[in-house]
Parts: sequence; structure tokens; C-alpha cells
Amino acid sequence: MLDRTEALVREVGGIGDELAILFVTAGATQHFAMVPQNFLGPGETADICHTGIWSGKAIEEAKRVGTVHVACDGKADNFASIPTEMSWSKQPRYVHYTSNETIYGTQWVAPPDAPAPLVCDASSDIFSRPLPLANHALIYAGAQKNLGPSGISLVIARKDFIETGSRALSPLAQYRTYAAERSMHNTPNTFGIWMIGEVCAWIKAQGGLAAMAERNARKAALLYDALDSSKIWKAHAKPGSRSNMNVTWRGPSKDVEDELIATAEARGMSGLRGHRSVGGMRASIYNAFPEEGVHRLVELLRELER
Ligand SMILES: *Cc1c(COP(=O)(O)O)cnc(C)c1O
Repeated sequence: MLDRTEALVREVGGIGDELAILFVTAGATQHFAMVPQNFLGPGETADICHTGIWSGKAIEEAKRVGTVHVACDGKADNFASIPTEMSWSKQPRYVHYTSNETIYGTQWVAPPDAPAPLVCDASSDIFSRPLPLANHALIYAGAQKNLGPSGISLVIARKDFIETGSRALSPLAQYRTYAAERSMHNTPNTFGIWMIGEVCAWIKAQGGLAAMAERNARKAALLYDALDSSKIWKAHAKPGSRSNMNVTWRGPSKDVEDELIATAEARGMSGLRGHRSVGGMRASIYNAFPEEGVHRLVELLRELER
């Protein structure tokens, strides 16, 4: 089963033999700590792009281990855009970025042009579009948004990068162990691995990542067009930084926002309330979400505005 899932992940992602495929029994949050524990040695600096809640957690965890340089900070713009100006430290050990900001609803169009190997938290947009593997040392993703159930994460990492990691950590905290023992140092999350294989087979049947990207862009455009042409609804993320996975917006008042959420609930559209740290609304339209659902939401937005 592991062979099958790994082969499907490689096929769908276009992932070559220089990269290891690891299944870690943990969420993405675990990697906020594991990445610096493995790769941030004494005297070394990790450059981290700060684009929202999740990068904030990655920064916090890396600071426990070593020196962090915040290479860009979207806070002044209330994380409505991905900063375009980067300031790199002298010699970063690696550059960490979050390809999709799940809560604020922003997404990197292309990876940062960095002076060091890239580490990417791709939890909320992995396999939603072709994987940009160039310059990446390690990509990690909690499975529960686009790949499978919670409690398991997929790691795609250069084998030579994994080898540069610390040997002082306990075995399950070293990426090396997962690579050397094919993610079976201890009993893995078998159901999670099986499910990731099933999801990859489904993506393949949909036409692969290029087809997923096209479909996701179409779904998101329907919603952004509706928001941009509205007088009462206002998209949070700015054009050029908008996520195709999580669309965030505000209404003219809390009352109107509550009315939207209540009416949506009554029509079977749930989970639209924005994260408590941002407020407003958020439509998470991951790979599995059907286009028909977006049409129904757009209809509701227009109806309430009228
Ligand atoms: C959901 C999410 C996480 C956290 O995942 P867990 O599996 O709950 O640890 C981390 N990063 C991003 C970008 C996410 O969307």
C-alpha cells in the first residue's frame, strides 16, 4: 500500500528520485518545530517570509531553536497581500515560506526568488496546481486540506538536504529516519497513507495537477468576480495575491455578515465564517469542492445584495 501511494504521489507531483517522499504521523504544526530542529544549527539563520497566522507560528517555533530573520512582513497590510520586497540575511541556511495563507486567503503566485534552499509549508494548496519543485529543499503539508485525513503529513524533500540534518535528535524527530526506513520506523498511519493514495488516484483521473489548477482558478474567479462587482461585499486579499483555495471577504456590517452565514447554513452551505482572528467570511474551495457549490454561493451573495 505504501508503494502504491508513494508511486501515485510521485506520478501526480512529477517528483523524481532525488527527492524522498515521507509520511509523518503529525500535522503541519509539527514541522514548524522539526524543520529548525533538523536544519538550523548553531550560528545559522533561517529566513522566514511572514504572510499570516501560519508563518507566525513557524517563526515562533524556529526562534526556540535558533536565529530567525523575518525576510518580509505582510502585517502592515493586514496580510491582504504577499509582500514583493524581500530583505535576506547574509547567508540564510534556508528560506521558509507558506505557499497559501489559509486564514487571510493569500497565495504566492510563484515561490520567492531566494538566495538559499526553499522550505515550503504547502498545507493548504498542495496538489491544487503543478508543484514548483525547483530550488526547493523540503515541502511539507498536513494532509487534511487537499490530500486526505488529518493527523498525517506528506513531506517531499531532497535526499541530500535530509542528510545535512541534525543527528542529535530522537529518531522520530529526524527526517533522516523517515527517509532511511521508508516512514516505517514505527507503525505509520496506514489509513492516512491509503487515503492519500486514493486522493492521488482521483486527481490523476481528473487530468492531473494542470487540470486541477485550471478548475481551481475557474472556481475562485467566479467568487472574486462576484465580490469585485458587488457594492456590499469586499474581498480581503488584493489582486495578485489572491488565493484560489481560501476566498476571504467582508460585508458592510456584522449583521449582514451574520445574515449571510445564517442563510447559507439554512441552504446547506456550512463553514463560511471567517477565522476568529480575521472575522468576516471565508470560503474554502479546496480541490474536492465542486464548482456547483461556488455557483450557489454566488447566487446567494447576489440575492442578499438585491
Ligand atoms: C492547516 C494548516 C496548518 C496546520 O496543520 P495541522 O495539521 O493542524 O498541524 C499549517 N499550515 C497551514 C498553511 C495550514 O493551512
